[in-house]
This record gives sequence, structure tokens and C-alpha cells, in this order.
Amino acid sequence: MENKKNGKLFIITGPSGVGKGTVLEKFFKNNKNAVYSVSQTTRNPRPGEVHGINYFFVTKAEFEKSIKNDEFLEWARYSDNYYGTSKTQVLTALNSGYDVFLEIETNGAQKIMEKFPDCVTIFLRPPNFDELEKRLRGRNTEDEEAIQKRLHEVKKELELSKNYQYAIENDKVENALEKLQKIYNKEKA
Ligand code: ADP
Ligand code: 5GP
Repeated sequence: MENKKNGKLFIITGPSGVGKGTVLEKFFKNNKNAVYSVSQTTRNPRPGEVHGINYFFVTKAEFEKSIKNDEFLEWARYSDNYYGTSKTQVLTALNSGYDVFLEIETNGAQKIMEKFPDCVTIFLRPPNFDELEKRLRGRNTEDEEAIQKRLHEVKKELELSKNYQYAIENDKVENALEKLQKIYNKEKA
């Protein structure tokens, strides 16, 4: 697929709890031409999450209808829920000249890399496994079963990080943010 204007597509992936949301939230404050692709999901909202801002929270039936109607650029099952990227939303933003950031897991990322070979791929790594677990638990948003499922994915996710053009270690948020900014500036130059 191609996009007509100048918007660039970025994928940012990394294990649950590594800090993708935290780093991106700060990044978007300083980069007004960069937009977040709001995904659809069947998981329940966390306290403070807003429909249309963090996700479009939909039922399983609604999600499956969207799959049937070919409304997703990619979708995946992760930890017992569906997650998907809206085709119209992303293509409209790209064609309007915005740089679009997809914050998605590894299977969806793979599909996007195939469809958009020019996309920029970034993997956010934790300093180590213990720190990742600490962050995930410290966020206090998942029950024990969900935490275990997310931790179970980590090894496979880290192995796949070699398929990404850039790896950023999220030791300190400011460091990760600075590295992300450098990548963005370089790719836009
Ligand atoms: P993700 O979006 O990757 O699942 P979050 O952005 O929700 O991760 O971050 C998970 C938790 O880790 C949050 O409580 C967040 O405040 C914390 N966190 C994020 N980055 C760092 C960091 N560099 N150092 C310490 N804690 C962090
Ligand atoms: P969370 O439940 O923590 O918000 O997200 C779980 C995982 O799903 C994260 O790795 C997140 O990046 C990923 N994710 C969020 N939206 C999408 C999407 O639209 N497609 C895919 N494939 N993964 C997504």
C-alpha cells in the first residue's frame, strides 16, 4: 500500500509495562505533526482510560464484524483480547501529512512491516526482566492472571526485537524520550 502525501508511519513495540505509553505521551506533547493511532480493543478500560483517546473499547461481536468488513490494517489476539488498527484512521492521517505512530504488539507489527516496507520500526526494551515485572506490577492495572500472561510473552517479544530498525532501552524516561526524538528527527530529515 502507498500513501500519497508525506506522512510517515512508525511502529513502536515492546513488552507490556516497558513504558511505551509513558514515553509516547511525552513525545506527542513536543511533536504536533505526530499522531497516535487509537486502536480498537475488546479489553476492559483501565481506570482513567478514555474511549476514543486511549482505545475504542468495543465488544467481541463488534470487533469480529469489523474484521469481516475488512476495516483493520492489522489485528491480533493478545492475552485473551482482540486489538486492531483502523485502516481509515491511519490512511486518512498519513494522506493528510501526519506522521502516524502505531503502538502495537509483535504479530501486528509484522503484518504492518509487510504492508508498509517503508515504515520505521522501533522496539522499546526494558533494562532487565525484573525491572519490567516491577513496572508492570507497579502500574497496578492487571490482576495476577493477566500479569502472568503478559510476562509469559516477554521472552518471545525480546527475541523478535532484532527485526526492528531501532532499539531503545527505557532505563530513564528522559533518556528514552531523547533517543526517540533523535530517531524521529533523523527519519524526517
Ligand atoms: P506500556 O505502555 O509499555 O505497557 P506504561 O507506559 O503503562 O507501559 O508503563 C508501565 C509502568 O512503568 C507505569 O507505571 C509507568 O509509570 C512506569 N514507567 C514507565 N517508564 C519508566 C521508567 N523509565 N522508569 C520507571 N518506571 C517507568
Ligand atoms: P494493553 O492491553 O497493555 O493496552 O496492550 C496490550 C498489547 O497490545 C500492547 O503490546 C499494545 O502495544 C498492543 N496493541 C495495542 N493496540 C494494538 C493494535 O491495534 N494492534 C495490535 N496488534 N496490538 C495492539
